[in-house]
Amino acid sequence: MNLPRAISVALALPIRRNFSYRVPEGMPVPEAGSRVRVPLGERVLTGIVVGSSADEGPGLRDVLEVLDEEPVCPRDLLEAAERVAQRFFASTGEVLRSALPARLPAAGAARYRITEKGALGRAEGAEREILDRLAGGEVVRVVDLPVVGRREALRTLEERGWIRVVSGPPAVRRVETAYVAARMTVQEREARLGRSRKGRAILDYLDCVGRPATAAEIRLSTGAGRSVVGELLRRGALHGFEQIRRAETALTAPVGRPAFALTVHQEEALSEINAAIGNRRYFPVLLQGITGSGKTEVYLRSIAATLESGRGAVWLVPEIALTPVFALALGRQFGGRAAVLHSALSQRERGEAWDRVRSGQARVVIGPRSAAFAPVADPGLFVVDEEHDASYKQRESPRYDAREVAAIRAHFSGATVVFGSATPSLEAWHAAREGRLKLLRLPERVDRRPLPDVSVVDLRREPFRPDEKGVPLFSRPLVERLTEVFSRGEQAILLQPRRGFAPLLLCRDCGYEFRCSRCSVARTVHDRGRTLVCHYCGERAARPALCPDCGGSLLEAVGAGTERVADRFAELFPNVPYAVLDRDAARRRGAAAVVEEMLSGRVSCLIGTQMVAKGHDFPGVTAVGVLSADTILNFPDFRSAEKTFQLVAQVAGRAGRGTRAGTVHVQTFHPQHPAIRRAAEHDMDGFAAGELAFREAFFYPPFSELAQIVISSADREKAAETAARIGQSALGGPQGVRISGPAPAPFERLQGKWRFQILLRAPDRRSLLSALEGCVPERPPAGTQIATDVDPQDLM
Ligand code: ADP
Ligand code: ZN
Repeated sequence: MNLPRAISVALALPIRRNFSYRVPEGMPVPEAGSRVRVPLGERVLTGIVVGSSADEGPGLRDVLEVLDEEPVCPRDLLEAAERVAQRFFASTGEVLRSALPARLPAAGAARYRITEKGALGRAEGAEREILDRLAGGEVVRVVDLPVVGRREALRTLEERGWIRVVSGPPAVRRVETAYVAARMTVQEREARLGRSRKGRAILDYLDCVGRPATAAEIRLSTGAGRSVVGELLRRGALHGFEQIRRAETALTAPVGRPAFALTVHQEEALSEINAAIGNRRYFPVLLQGITGSGKTEVYLRSIAATLESGRGAVWLVPEIALTPVFALALGRQFGGRAAVLHSALSQRERGEAWDRVRSGQARVVIGPRSAAFAPVADPGLFVVDEEHDASYKQRESPRYDAREVAAIRAHFSGATVVFGSATPSLEAWHAAREGRLKLLRLPERVDRRPLPDVSVVDLRREPFRPDEKGVPLFSRPLVERLTEVFSRGEQAILLQPRRGFAPLLLCRDCGYEFRCSRCSVARTVHDRGRTLVCHYCGERAARPALCPDCGGSLLEAVGAGTERVADRFAELFPNVPYAVLDRDAARRRGAAAVVEEMLSGRVSCLIGTQMVAKGHDFPGVTAVGVLSADTILNFPDFRSAEKTFQLVAQVAGRAGRGTRAGTVHVQTFHPQHPAIRRAAEHDMDGFAAGELAFREAFFYPPFSELAQIVISSADREKAAETAARIGQSALGGPQGVRISGPAPAPFERLQGKWRFQILLRAPDRRSLLSALEGCVPERPPAGTQIATDVDPQDLM
């Protein structure tokens, strides 16, 4: 045997090693990056070939099938995935599963099926042979169809509509259906829409983009599916027509953008970045630009420069639900050269987008964390927008951090990676101070606009109002300011970091708290008090009329989420139109539709969770209210001060971005807390100095590398026992590694499982990984689960 016929395959299992298989005689040896079907025990799994294997023993099992005739995963991505797996103590197969769309069409292995028309068709020669082979209605792979004249015949038959590709490279359809809003008077529009909120979101969106959109684009941008589109067609609110197809995951055609002269600081930052892109050397940058300093413009222009130099670019954005909003700016500038990679796309669309990127049709990709794995050829630039955002870290296995993925890939391909934020994570801040990131600053707002004036409202001094159960929601200074703002026709943003109606239902008689039956948390009250939902496992229940414990009837919803804030707002400002932006609203009507309502001025106030603080540019907003700054501050987590600082500074940064100056009211019971005080003073340096001193003293990141091991089981004893054993073996680990626990996790029970945690802190990643290697078993004991999170973003 001359060719090595043993290959190493990555399988999407929580086991941190690859598996070796033999390629049987007669089967071509698949290239690295191709998918194969292989047996494992009784199962058959799909895996990715990562290379040849030195394992040539007789015990190797055979590869069953090679799915791709050419690799679906480019070589550099494969290498990056392996490095990511190693750095996050994860399995390469699981990282690759996150990276690749689930239904990626087989590269070079299409399957065909006959259509109704084809079944009735008459043909000669190769076409006849193919039709005969497919006549039974069976799905047949290309390689199993007659060979002579196959390619030509397939194309002809497909063009005639006699056969269809079932799974494989996207079928090329020449036309597609697009929709426009019908011409209607306001009354007609209202009558045809009726009470359809999704219908309204669709019409708003079409108004906003000012051109036809396909059903797929409509769903991506508004969350409304084909059935809503169909209903609007029936009611005469939409017209559909055929247009020349453009790929559905491509963004809109470029439109003229206002050309402004860059500020000196933008100019400086851009020239550093552009020079680096030309150098083909790894260049990591922290772009610390205060809110409204024009970071987006720097991203867009450096992406343009990257494309001009013939390389590709990836732009990561922090929030899945907001991706369509961010994507608008990119689409406006780059049109069909840009693609969105996004988990809200259907499997087919994701596969198609991936294919457009891999084949080089699309050169710039925007998306949330998973887009860090976009198969862009020769990437020259990675932008990580709002770098401080914890959503870059995946909380489920594989627990990778997209920020590090971007850096690893940039490193491999000699690219620039720009981490941009007004409030960088302390890790990035510290790295910049140590010279590991090049610090570029935008210290002024564009046009020298002032930062907003921030007042800290001491809630301890506010009169208690029985109608605002528990915590006061709208302080007197805030109400006064909002009244002024709305009377001038300006806009406001109100932040309440909790969704739902209230965080707690409480029995006034016995103190019963309606905790989730499977999680150690209280259920959140939703639907204006009618439903109870566990935010951890999603379990829903109707709110009972009586306390199940004592039979009392005095059940009270305590505290406030966005729903209750909206109700209270409507009482205080009955004539002011508002919109809500939180995860529930994004699911119901699409975040893009809500954002458009603010931009168009149809609503004057935006009420929402953290989602209102993320990167928006609403020039009409002159007032911001943080209703409760303490929610996150009170979390038992070493990052709670940092997160509070970032949230307050970010939402404050939404005010006064237009020509009129803005104000911010921050309501808190801790007006002296440094996180709040420094955010009010826009003082990142001051906050970072104090917080870093604390982190250093207690050996927390960025002064240590942290890992959390969570051991869980439905059986509390088992979890405790396994945790104890792991804790014991951790003691023998490398020098300088500190071990805390095992101890019950802050949420001791989730989804019916008891949870214990062990924290490891090490001076560097290498010793952290070696400590984990020494104490975490390859497979958890029966009945338990072990989740290892390297560099966790919270410790729940
Ligand atoms: P950031 O992301 O830093 O908070 P943005 O990039 O959203 O800020 O920019 C804020 C606003 O300023 C946007 O409306 C943008 O179009 C505009 N802008 C950016 N650069 C300039 C410039 N050089 N001159 C005028 N306006 C600018
Ligand atoms: Zn639960």
